[in-house]
Amino acid sequence: MRIGVSQVLVGTEERSLLERVLSSGHLVQGAMVAEFETGFAKLAGAQHAVATSSGTTALQLALEVAGVGPGDEVVTSPFTFVATLNAILGRGAVARLVDIDPQTFNVRPEQVAEAVNSRTKALMPVHLYGLAADMTSLLPIARERSLRLVEDAAQAHCATDGDYPVGTADLGCFSLYATKNLAAGEGGVVTAADPGDADLLQVLRNQGMRDRYQYVAVGYNYRLTDMAAALALGQMARLESNMARRQQNAAYLTGHLQGLTGLTTPTVPEGSRHVWHQYTVRVGRDAPIGRAALRRFLAEREIGSAVYYPRVLPDHQVFTTHPLIQVGDLTEARLAADEVLSLPVHQLLRQSDLEEIVDGVRAAFGAA
Ligand SMILES: *Cc1c(COP(=O)(O)O)cnc(C)c1O
Repeated sequence: MRIGVSQVLVGTEERSLLERVLSSGHLVQGAMVAEFETGFAKLAGAQHAVATSSGTTALQLALEVAGVGPGDEVVTSPFTFVATLNAILGRGAVARLVDIDPQTFNVRPEQVAEAVNSRTKALMPVHLYGLAADMTSLLPIARERSLRLVEDAAQAHCATDGDYPVGTADLGCFSLYATKNLAAGEGGVVTAADPGDADLLQVLRNQGMRDRYQYVAVGYNYRLTDMAAALALGQMARLESNMARRQQNAAYLTGHLQGLTGLTTPTVPEGSRHVWHQYTVRVGRDAPIGRAALRRFLAEREIGSAVYYPRVLPDHQVFTTHPLIQVGDLTEARLAADEVLSLPVHQLLRQSDLEEIVDGVRAAFGAA
């Protein structure tokens, strides 16, 4: 696609940091990882940041540190990337999936509160597309019922709900995967509010070792490489300006796509900071063109688009009869899966690209 949904630019800053790593000869969990962790904690407004090999291993470690295990339940969204669910099932815990808000695509606090029971150990809100879940309502639910909070912020570096920065209350999980807003190829970070948790995260990701060959837990190799840390650290310097570009691009798209029958542009709740990992519209039943046809129409003009995600997780065959998955009424999540379409919004789009996207969608809707 000429105008893709995601595009990676490796800048001069990353290249020089990478060169520093290569000439140091220290390739894994060295100075560059430490520097990245310090920088990321500051950026995220978190007490501690522990780098991991991926967003998925960040989720796995966070759930383990939160004490989630067999017999426990975790409340989360059915409308997310599969890693969220896999991390819960991997702990042998029950995943209780609750319906979403049709405007924010994130879990609804009312439904979350209803799903909590005596076995609930943690809430796991997902900040989908770069928009924070309603943490203002979820934080008191977690506090009042003494629940752990493991935020899946893989798509939402630096997003806020009001003035709450995602991932700062308890444990937050971020991804550095190749298409995320901060892209190191593979990588992840867990932010932690508690120093004991940060210590355990560090121990678990490195074979359960505190000091060399001093094993204090059953651990893993979930370490980040210094090459990946160099890429992430270099991009971190541009993250603010990239996010500002994404915000401008989203505002342009919304300004020019509003009012088309059957097309719903994304909403941003008052006071929150959407970081626009994706710009996602809804193509409703009353639209003059279906979602699949719209995608083909745009593809003919070499404009990329994507469906995140075409189905709610529990409707995939591998999960339909899974004994550890509990679902309530998922009407809104299923409807969203049928209607969502993400359009390019990234920081490398030019004005002419934005105009082409708008022209393409408007033409497809017969509103050229
Ligand atoms: C990308 C992503 C993950 C997993 O991150 P990886 O780095 O790819 O392992 C988890 N949850 C969500 C919502 C994601 O988008």
